[in-house]
Amino acid sequence: MKGCKKSAQGIEVTLVPPGGPEAKHEFEVALVTIGRTPNSENLGLEKAGLKTDSKGFLAVDAQRRTAVPHVYAIGDIAGQPLLAHKGSKEGIIAAEAMAGMKVAYDVVAMPAVIFTDPEIATVGMTEAEAKAKDLDIRVGIFPFAANGRALSVSESDGFVKMIGDGRRAVY
Ligand SMILES: Cc1cc2nc3c(=O)[nH]c(=O)nc-3n(C[C@H](O)[C@H](O)[C@H](O)COP(=O)(O)OP(=O)(O)OC[C@H]3O[C@@H](n4cnc5c(N)ncnc54)[C@H](O)[C@@H]3O)c2cc1C
Repeated sequence: MKGCKKSAQGIEVTLVPPGGPEAKHEFEVALVTIGRTPNSENLGLEKAGLKTDSKGFLAVDAQRRTAVPHVYAIGDIAGQPLLAHKGSKEGIIAAEAMAGMKVAYDVVAMPAVIFTDPEIATVGMTEAEAKAKDLDIRVGIFPFAANGRALSVSESDGFVKMIGDGRRAVY
């Protein structure tokens, strides 16, 4: 999305599809789902010798240790992505590190879900990210409308998109 502004009908949104020309569309409402920030003000972090960055995040190492070595930070305050399961994973890593275990937060593929209807779920690299890395990829798309299971539960909207390693392709 390039931008949006109020219009006589509602909201005029300017979209730029990958490789396609810019286009304007009219919508009744726009739901904004960005802009979450860490709630790190007024915690007295400075009294513990800690300083957040300009956006309120604390820098942490692979064990989620802050600049003050006996203070660990997990969850939203430890940075993107601001997701519940990311915070839980970091909590486990931090607890194990405190217990002296050799662990590190080293996530290759972080799932993300957008609870719309139909839901949107992603994991791993996007096609655009893979292309930016110049990887040899194969892309497959399969519509739910052609999936028997999806049809049997009347959930035929949407699709599955797979981005695979082209060097291992067997088709
Ligand atoms: C509207 C909304 C929708 C979301 N949807 C999703 C989703 O679909 N999937 C997903 O993965 N994530 C989602 N998230 C993000 C997810 O909720 C957060 O990433 C996650 O809760 C962060 O965990 P946290 O432990 O860092 O913070 P929190 O879960 O906010 O926990 C911090 C806790 O600290 C407490 N606290 C704050 N200040 C103090 C204080 N001074 N003293 C003591 N306690 C204090 C708070 O009360 C709170 O209980 C959503 C967030 C929002 C706001």
